[in-house]
Amino acid sequence: MLVVAGFSLYLYHVFVVFLCLTQFKEISFAYEVLSNPEKKELYDRYGEQGLREGGGGGPGMDDIFSHIFGGGLFGFMGGQGNRSRNGGRRRGEDMVHPLKVSLEDLYNGKTTKLQLSKNVLCSSCNGQGGKTGAVQKCSTCRGRGMRIMIRQLAPGMVQQMQSVCTDCNGEGEVISEKDRCKKCEGKKVVKEVKILEVHVDKGMKHGQKITFGGEADQAPGVEPGDIVLVLQEKEHETFKREKNDLFINHKIGLVEALCGFQFTLKHLDGRQIVIKYPAGKVIEPGSVRVVRGEGMPQYRNPFEKGDLYVKFDVQFPDNNWISPEKLTELEDMLPSRPEPPIITGDTEEVDLQDYDVSQSSTSGGRREAYNDSSDDESGHHGPGVQCAHQ
Ligand SMILES: [Zn+2]
Ligand SMILES: [Zn+2]
Repeated sequence: MLVVAGFSLYLYHVFVVFLCLTQFKEISFAYEVLSNPEKKELYDRYGEQGLREGGGGGPGMDDIFSHIFGGGLFGFMGGQGNRSRNGGRRRGEDMVHPLKVSLEDLYNGKTTKLQLSKNVLCSSCNGQGGKTGAVQKCSTCRGRGMRIMIRQLAPGMVQQMQSVCTDCNGEGEVISEKDRCKKCEGKKVVKEVKILEVHVDKGMKHGQKITFGGEADQAPGVEPGDIVLVLQEKEHETFKREKNDLFINHKIGLVEALCGFQFTLKHLDGRQIVIKYPAGKVIEPGSVRVVRGEGMPQYRNPFEKGDLYVKFDVQFPDNNWISPEKLTELEDMLPSRPEPPIITGDTEEVDLQDYDVSQSSTSGGRREAYNDSSDDESGHHGPGVQCAHQ
């Protein structure tokens, strides 16, 4: 029994060491860099970037280093934005702004000016924060902006702790008061108002991005990110849009549904379009018709347009709209009734009452049942077409 216990304890020990071995290799590598005077000097002076550019470590070292310092093990270099592949210069964050646009703007295209405030390198000190030579490496953290302690807990196990250097607020350098640039107060960057000319092209869509390369905040040693505008299509009171198609709802009376009609519609470019439907063709309530080529222009091919779908809401007349005599006349003109069914056996007559959906306490379920039964004959599922698919 005792032998078994001793054996498993031994296994456990081996297991712990084995787990830590891969981490230990990486940490050993970091030690190697930091203990190599040449590499350390590069790192101290120029940070990770300098090491990557001038350290001559080759791609392998670059990868491992970014893994250690950008990844999870140390992590303190993380969150500083992406690194560009070209030249190894760190890339700043992109600035993403929503841009609200009307459906008219997306139909017609629009050029708009956008004013924004961004950081640019101080022209007075060329982004140095002071006179040449005024910038001193922080002695406390040796320019790293962070203080790291690596402690050996047990053979093969180390613990690392880090904190932001309080002497330089993580900047890694200090500028004495008298040498500090007056314009930027040593911050190296100043706020500047920038006006961007934004071209919203015909046919652009909700969520589409307009990018201004390298126009985001500037910072020393950093390749500025992009300004990215994300289009937000505003809701339109007449038109709904799906891709390049437009959808409207249109109310007509029973007479129009049976005897033809025409109506005018103000389009998104201000044109009054006349929509006609001939006498003798019937519009069923809830049915959809289409006007080809009156939808949205295609992006980058604006002479090609989508279609305009019209869904008809047929308004029936109110109660007692016609005298009983006229009703008989009307019935003669309408398609004839089906033959009454032949009834055999006992019957009971029941009362069919008016029913107001909105006033019923249990209306919810019933209303949904009715919506479900309103079928969609065209098979078209546009946002303006109220087909209930729940
Ligand atoms: Zn300055
Ligand atoms: Zn410091």
